[in-house]
Amino acid sequence: MRGVKLFRVLGIQISLNYTWFIVFGLIAWSLASGYFPSRYPDLSRSAHWLMGFLGAFFLFLSVLVHELTHSYIAKREGMEVKEITLFIFGGVSQLTKEPEDSKKELKMAIAGPLSSLVLALIFWILFNATLRSPHLILITGLLWYLALINLSLGIFNLIPGFPLDGGRVLRAFYWRKTGSLKRATRIASESGKWIGVGIILLGLFSILMGNLISGFWFVIIGIFLRSTAEMGFQQVVMKGALEGVKVRELMSRGVISVGPSLSISELVEGFYLTHKHITYPVMEGERIVGVITLKQVKEVSREQWKEKTVREVMMPIREEMMLDPDGEAVDALQKMIRTGEGRLPVVKDGKAVGMITRKDILNLLQIKTDLAE
Ligand SMILES: [Zn+2]
Repeated sequence: MRGVKLFRVLGIQISLNYTWFIVFGLIAWSLASGYFPSRYPDLSRSAHWLMGFLGAFFLFLSVLVHELTHSYIAKREGMEVKEITLFIFGGVSQLTKEPEDSKKELKMAIAGPLSSLVLALIFWILFNATLRSPHLILITGLLWYLALINLSLGIFNLIPGFPLDGGRVLRAFYWRKTGSLKRATRIASESGKWIGVGIILLGLFSILMGNLISGFWFVIIGIFLRSTAEMGFQQVVMKGALEGVKVRELMSRGVISVGPSLSISELVEGFYLTHKHITYPVMEGERIVGVITLKQVKEVSREQWKEKTVREVMMPIREEMMLDPDGEAVDALQKMIRTGEGRLPVVKDGKAVGMITRKDILNLLQIKTDLAE
């Protein structure tokens, strides 16, 4: 997920997903115009807005502390965390690999919600300390909200649906019991999906009962939980199946390349209609200079086929389009997603030695999952 880079803590890059700007505004606005005025009607409008902004800001810090706690434990357990992206309902810590055993998974998963509950307790104690000073009412109100929101963050994340923290705890439990990460992930994801459905139904019921806004939030959270549970499971299956597979093993060899000075009509006659490949690496002497696909050929009108050359039409080669034969198949898939190209050349010493397609990867996944069943 794309975002804005903020700063680094503990060697981890902290980034904000773009959704945060919208959510920050929405939270500040709903606090300033709904929550705080209803609890403190005697305060001025500007005080409500100040509380709204501070509330949203400290909520952001609270989510950050929650994520940093996960990352701190992950690092202490020997896992590397590159980046934390804060988004709509929390954060995503980008681990470079999945935890190795259920014990590490459990420690890492439980740390986040615990930190939220500890924060809730701290804010609650501070709230009580300021309660007797009426001139501090603005701060008292803020502290109460922060205690409440951290309590909710802790509890929400403990919902036993993967990939929420509670789901990870559940996964660690089944992982220990069954010895299979995949089976444990499937159970925890299923649980997440059904809880998601439950939350959606609860939301719809709330809407029918007239609680439009809270019902709407429930529906959104339910949909979010359902789709992330699905995605989390697929990711684990894919990573598991592709683990240790090299690009070299998946690529098709004996690449047929074309020269850059070929005309499009020669390309169509001599290659597209003869070899029936869709993408060809373009080689100038011993070096790859580009890639030509059917899509680019189709953009040239038929009358120009004789004049236009491959060089004029091709995609010039870029670093992010090339694959290393010794690279991981997982990285190949990531490059395909990033560039939006389903066929990429495998290049060694400047020379195209193979091609890899999305279909090659999907076929392998299909075979591996079929064999596993
Ligand atoms: Zn968490």
